Amino acid sequence: MLDVLIVGAGPTGLVLALWLHRQGVRLRIIDKAPGPGTASRALAVHARTLEYYAMLGIADEAILAGRRFDALNYWTPAGHAARIPVGEIGKGLSPYPYVLILPQDEHERLLLGRLKALGVPVEYDTTLVGFDQRPGWIEAEIAGPRGEESVEARFLCGCDGAHSAVREALGIDFEGGSYSDLFYVADVAATGAAVNGELHLFTSGTRFNAVFPMKREGQVRLVGLVPKRLRSKPSLRIEDFAADIARETQLKLTGVNWFSTYHVHHRVAESFRLGRAFLLGDAAHIHSPAGGQGMNTGIGDAVNLAWKLAAIVNTQGSPVLLDSYEDERIRFARTLVASTDRGFTMAVSSGIIARLLRLRLLPMVAPSLLRLERVRLRLFRTLSQIGITYRGLAPNQGRVGELAAGDRLPWVADGDGVGNFGPLRSLSWQVHIYGAASEALQSLCKERTLPLHEQPWQAEAAAAGLAQDALYLIRPDGHIGFAHPTQDVGALTRYLDAVHIRTRTEPKQNGRRRYG
Ligand SMILES: Cc1cc2nc3c(=O)[nH]c(=O)nc-3n(C[C@H](O)[C@H](O)[C@H](O)COP(=O)(O)OP(=O)(O)OC[C@H]3O[C@@H](n4cnc5c(N)ncnc54)[C@H](O)[C@@H]3O)c2cc1C
Repeated sequence: MLDVLIVGAGPTGLVLALWLHRQGVRLRIIDKAPGPGTASRALAVHARTLEYYAMLGIADEAILAGRRFDALNYWTPAGHAARIPVGEIGKGLSPYPYVLILPQDEHERLLLGRLKALGVPVEYDTTLVGFDQRPGWIEAEIAGPRGEESVEARFLCGCDGAHSAVREALGIDFEGGSYSDLFYVADVAATGAAVNGELHLFTSGTRFNAVFPMKREGQVRLVGLVPKRLRSKPSLRIEDFAADIARETQLKLTGVNWFSTYHVHHRVAESFRLGRAFLLGDAAHIHSPAGGQGMNTGIGDAVNLAWKLAAIVNTQGSPVLLDSYEDERIRFARTLVASTDRGFTMAVSSGIIARLLRLRLLPMVAPSLLRLERVRLRLFRTLSQIGITYRGLAPNQGRVGELAAGDRLPWVADGDGVGNFGPLRSLSWQVHIYGAASEALQSLCKERTLPLHEQPWQAEAAAAGLAQDALYLIRPDGHIGFAHPTQDVGALTRYLDAVHIRTRTEPKQNGRRRYG
């Protein structure tokens, strides 16, 4: 029997497959599409995603394939209103203190390439037809080029996008609503002041356009509102309102590589799990593209669930872990949908207050506000998703100073730019001590074969919020699972036993890693 059947090979399903495979989980991944995606949809890859990619060993490849930008420009009908430098906006907080621009089709190709190199093929042209939950496993019907097939798997992961068949089969509501505005998105060749490798936002009383830099010189991504008069025009083409775009952005469009329109929805599934079936990515939550959060959140779901499934499959870890997937991710999804909704409404509303804010207040105050380090770092923490915390939710336990279990382990830099994130590449539970580990802790870690990473106490660790000689047990996804102000081995032992954490590696069995 398979361990996991993944339905959907968008970014969410692909990252889930990569992480599960690294942890020795037997999986199949299917997609009803005839081949890899060709639409460049999501552009922004945020720091937290790159940190996960570093753990998977693919961050450098992604960075090489993408591009960064140095500044955000704000335009009103009166002209260029502000240029805000954002190149290294999160300096000191992450090894990746910027937003990477990488079109989704290229991004998916990169993930696919890595998966293929590992010997895990995506089965295209293969659709999930239905499934039943049995005691201890799932029986799924899939239809592919060789006809219909019944697949038995211990778990099923629905990474099958906004119209998820898995969500529908589970009868889970997708609560929320839709906005009336129609959006356009286009990858174009263009000339003009906004084709300078920076991000440009053009706003007016009723209109909105954004111009994103692309890797290829002279190419940009346009995102904006379709003029109201054209919203219900069938077979809309960019040529129908190219003159509006040219006037509003002062760009001369010289070629169109891709054009699409879409309605924006804000919905969160009522539940992310039913029995042995899970929902992730757009199947679980959709929202406005404000802040480029959608794809990154799906990847975050994949990482959050992958290590928990692997723990159950490989070590019979506590069921608390599987329950925690929904608790941790639904809370974040609800907050995200609410905040992107506010941001989106502010960006497109024609109400007097929103217009005043967009046209007068923002261009006046945003540059000075963003010069304040506190504001800059706070914005980065939110947008980059490094600020996501699972505080107060099981299995996270304990607090030391300003850091609590559930928080992402803060990054402590060193000369090589990797710092305390280096050991996270093992994807295993590990103890971090910033200072000196006691003999009792060393022998417990040895006995449990729990990796212990001791780093000399330094000012950078204090600045990151860590406490000298405190005990931090780090989860495979780089969040703190357990924190204690002293190296209390009794408390650590109780936690390890309660969550069934066993990290002892045994010889491979039939080519498969086994633990505990
Ligand atoms: C125009 C546009 C612009 C966007 N811009 C951004 C942006 O700037 N930043 C951002 O973060 N996000 C953006 N998004 C959102 C982003 O594209 C999605 O959040 C992301 O694709 C979600 O990934 P996913 O893997 O969860 O789902 P998807 O990418 O939708 O993948 C789902 C996969 O499941 C497959 N599938 C569906 N049903 C079945 C079935 N029954 N059997 C087998 N396979 C099935 C589909 O073929 C598909 O390949 C944009 C979206 C659109 C449409």
